Amino acid sequence: MLAYTYMKQGQFALLEKPMPVLKDPKDALVRVTLGSICTSDLHIKHGSVPRAVPGITVGHEMVGIVEQVGAEVTTVKPGDRVTVNVETFCGECFFCRHGYVNNCEDLDGGWALGCRIDGGQTEYVRVPHADQGLNRIPDGVTDEQALFVGDILATGFWAARISEITPDDTVLLIGAGPTGICTLLCARLKHPRRLIVCEKSEERIRFVQTHYPEVLVTTPEQCQAFVKAHSAHGGADVVIEVAGADDTFRLAWECARPNAIVTVVALYDRPQVLPLPDMYGKNLTFKTGGVDGCDCAEILRLIAEGKIDTTPLITHRFPLNEIEEAYRIFENRLDGVIKVAVTPRNDK
Ligand SMILES: [Zn+2]
Ligand SMILES: [Zn+2]
Repeated sequence: MLAYTYMKQGQFALLEKPMPVLKDPKDALVRVTLGSICTSDLHIKHGSVPRAVPGITVGHEMVGIVEQVGAEVTTVKPGDRVTVNVETFCGECFFCRHGYVNNCEDLDGGWALGCRIDGGQTEYVRVPHADQGLNRIPDGVTDEQALFVGDILATGFWAARISEITPDDTVLLIGAGPTGICTLLCARLKHPRRLIVCEKSEERIRFVQTHYPEVLVTTPEQCQAFVKAHSAHGGADVVIEVAGADDTFRLAWECARPNAIVTVVALYDRPQVLPLPDMYGKNLTFKTGGVDGCDCAEILRLIAEGKIDTTPLITHRFPLNEIEEAYRIFENRLDGVIKVAVTPRNDK
């Protein structure tokens, strides 16, 4: 089968590999019917994910059909259409039992697929702890509708959940990339009084204005004044920072009102400064980290009910055998790309 593979820093390659086999009674084998490319794949390519193992198949956003299950798998069976979770988690350890599945103590726990073990930019993928890692896609929900459930949509849902948004709140969301848009969709479900998006790319601003006309939009330069003018207590009640640019962490806490919650989802290339003397008395609550992807069943239900629709994010489609071209477009942000759907190989 074809597998897009991390060779060494700066180099991925499309290789022929043997089909994976089950290694553990909790494993499942999934035939990938649709995949995608994530910014985290680019982080691996550029060498900023030190735990990524050379030789592994990359890709951690995918949906597919269960081909085979181990003896201890109970929640899915061959033939089921499923989403695959970016997080591998055992469901039994202290962290899993508290919903902190990103910190699962299992050897394969956390982000393993497409990083430490073979992932989904291929034809078949072995999924460990399949009872936790796979969710059945409801009838009537398409592969494209379900594509982002296990990664960026799980991240957006988690970010909105831990931000404790109430209907009185002005919520500021920094960054309208794919994960930012997923976060916006999930924050919207909490019905805050106002939702403000801060974004610098004109293309992305247009996307937000076209698809979510009720959302207010500002730019990094105007953000602080804009938020102040559109909130009741001198700043946003909740700030969710998804951009991860050089100045966006500072912007996040500067735009927050006293006693606000600032949720940091972004992954930074460089360490950030927390200037406590400058924010003394502002009494902020910071929440940070990597997604606890344990809400996929609920997200799929919301998609089935028509409450979340991420399909406008899919701007490009390429078959697996043309994945290098898909990467070229995604990596260089060409042609208005937001997300690419990778369809099964088509060598004809
Ligand atoms: Zn990702
Ligand atoms: Zn666990």
